[in-house]
Amino acid sequence: MENNNSLWQEIIGHRDILSRLKNAINQNQVAHAYLFSGPKGVGKLSVATRFAAALNCELRDNTLDNSPCGHCISCKNILKRTHRDTYFIQPEGNAITIAQIRDIRKLVQLKNYGSEYKVIIIDEADTMNRPAANSLLKIIEEPPGPVVFILIAANHETLPLTIVSRCRLVTFQRLRLAEIKNFLIAEFALEPDSAKTIAFLSRGIMAKAIDLAADNNFFKRRERVIEAISEIKDTGPGRLSLLAENLIQHINRELARVKERQQKYLDKLVEQSTNKTHAGRIKKQQSKKDKRELARLERSAFDDILTNLNSIYRDAVLLAVGGDDNLTANIDIVPELKKIATATGIANGLAAGSHVRKAREMLYSNVSPELALEYLFFSLQEA
Ligand SMILES: [Zn+2]
Repeated sequence: MENNNSLWQEIIGHRDILSRLKNAINQNQVAHAYLFSGPKGVGKLSVATRFAAALNCELRDNTLDNSPCGHCISCKNILKRTHRDTYFIQPEGNAITIAQIRDIRKLVQLKNYGSEYKVIIIDEADTMNRPAANSLLKIIEEPPGPVVFILIAANHETLPLTIVSRCRLVTFQRLRLAEIKNFLIAEFALEPDSAKTIAFLSRGIMAKAIDLAADNNFFKRRERVIEAISEIKDTGPGRLSLLAENLIQHINRELARVKERQQKYLDKLVEQSTNKTHAGRIKKQQSKKDKRELARLERSAFDDILTNLNSIYRDAVLLAVGGDDNLTANIDIVPELKKIATATGIANGLAAGSHVRKAREMLYSNVSPELALEYLFFSLQEA
């Protein structure tokens, strides 16, 4: 028998979910609607895409377990998002709108282009407002043909219960440290200790881990953080501000690179548009999206720095109380951690943790990152 599980096997973790979905196909018990719920970045969309492939794979009967083959035209098109019976719906702006749901209503009434199932994947379904949700509910209640809806949501509690109760709920958990670590070693050729560090800092979120691993700046940025920590205790206020500024500049350089990429994409969009009005509208929409992306990236970069600071102090306390090197998050820099542990001491290390929490609170109540970081450094000095 041919062992051709490739598309399922690309998924990291979530084995229980995959076997549930496989069984549903095997036993001909595919539901009309699924709700994939779980933290953002954990792999819900990847699983949804592969489930869609499994439902419509042309060679499914020849594969083990009814797995999507990954090679037939149907599988390839679904992965490229060009399959004519599989639709990927994403929020327009901040939300899935009622206009989008109306389009879905039209789509489900169309005859399939030869596929067994029409699959409608609605990403960030929890951004739907009440009228949109009500409209969707009507479609889910009476699907006109073999349609499978996959709703994806990080906070499915915000969806109306009427929708949730119509869906088969599939709950995604954060990945295990080892699952992410092994993936990073295989895909990014990281050293085991570096992979462990990133796996730890990603807190079970694959998208975060990939972000950190793909970001060549991660280890450099941590060097800056360590430099700051090492100097904080015996430096003047001017130097302290400078250390904070160094980190901020580091982030700004990253953001500048993203801005450049955004601008290139925008230029391309405008160039491709058919007329001036169209170009203007596209430009406006895209600029809004870009701004939101930048703001999100800025906050997430600062959040990373805080997570990093926290993990270093946590490691330092751990080592100061005689904990095992292997239990540190930043296991690849144990000698540096030991120096910090000696210089900081247990009480200060513990206090540092609460200062970092306070800075994170500031960041999430819209205090500027610069201010939050400077405040943190001054608090750490006084600790
Ligand atoms: Zn296939």
